[in-house]
Amino acid sequence: MNLTQFPRRNYVQDPTPIEAVPTFSKALGGKINLFIKRDDLLPGCAGGNKTRKLDYCIADALEKGADTIITCGAVQSNHCRLTLAWAVKEGMDCHLVLEERVPGSYKENGSGNHFLFQLMGVKSITVVPGGSDMLGEMEQVSEKVKSTGKKPYIIPGGASNAIGATGYAACALEIQHQLFSQNLSIDHLVVPSGSAGTHAGMVVGMYGSNANIPIAGINVSRKKQVQEEIVHNLAVETAKRLGVREKIPADQITCFDNYVGAGYSLPTDSMIEAVKLLARTESILLDPVYSGKAMAGMIDLVRNDYFSPGTNVMFLHTGGSPALYAYLDTFR
Ligand SMILES: *Cc1c(COP(=O)(O)O)cnc(C)c1O
Repeated sequence: MNLTQFPRRNYVQDPTPIEAVPTFSKALGGKINLFIKRDDLLPGCAGGNKTRKLDYCIADALEKGADTIITCGAVQSNHCRLTLAWAVKEGMDCHLVLEERVPGSYKENGSGNHFLFQLMGVKSITVVPGGSDMLGEMEQVSEKVKSTGKKPYIIPGGASNAIGATGYAACALEIQHQLFSQNLSIDHLVVPSGSAGTHAGMVVGMYGSNANIPIAGINVSRKKQVQEEIVHNLAVETAKRLGVREKIPADQITCFDNYVGAGYSLPTDSMIEAVKLLARTESILLDPVYSGKAMAGMIDLVRNDYFSPGTNVMFLHTGGSPALYAYLDTFR
């Protein structure tokens, strides 16, 4: 893989830290040594994983002459917050289409990410019911924008196409470089698996460089088989874009769906425990929708001896903490 051949804006100038979390590891019984890759500290308003993907997507938009970005997400979308943030930085307009996946969850004066949409001066927000054709809705916004003489570019939900997933193939290489220079080895990597660009990109980066580090994805909405197929398809497409010679085997994708609870964005007891435990042992903030549920999954895997004793496990912290402030009652 030669990632220098792909246009990017260079939003990620320095590697994010790999942090040892011994107090948290001890609180889990001291069976494994946990390390957290702090992608919650990436640049871009309040940080998070979408910055790595947008680095490539927005470069593509600018190369195509766009002056306006349209994207979509759930009502408390971190992806929408970061897309807006980078559009603002680039001097571009940004329009959002928000899917109300949980009926009644959209609040005109909502907190968390929604507050930040308004603070950063979003051009428009279109709220549509759960299950809507999001691409179709974004295309409608695009037509309206075009009629005002602007040049729109649509970024799919989560920036999870082969262009965006390239950012996580780059992250896999960044991790390997850091591990080498720190003389550290890890035996397993745990990542949240949502719109799939993070998981797929990481698999491509690790597999394409023969790193032999197994990756466990923790689902935040879909069933295991459905998610594994989505991740695999995107990984295959991304690997092709990056020139990985061998097709990514389906067995490189492993997802766990037992930590979703009642559904996407709906709190679970194990998520609440995970968020509180990491805050109280390491003062690191997770979020209720993604990293909290992914960490709940990781904790459960540790308790059930999924990882051999004494192994080094890395958890990818994808960010999202602004959403905590839209869930205050859940944690009180
Ligand atoms: C979007 C998001 C994820 C999931 O990443 P995908 O690439 O969509 O699978 C995980 N954590 C946070 C905080 C996110 O915003």
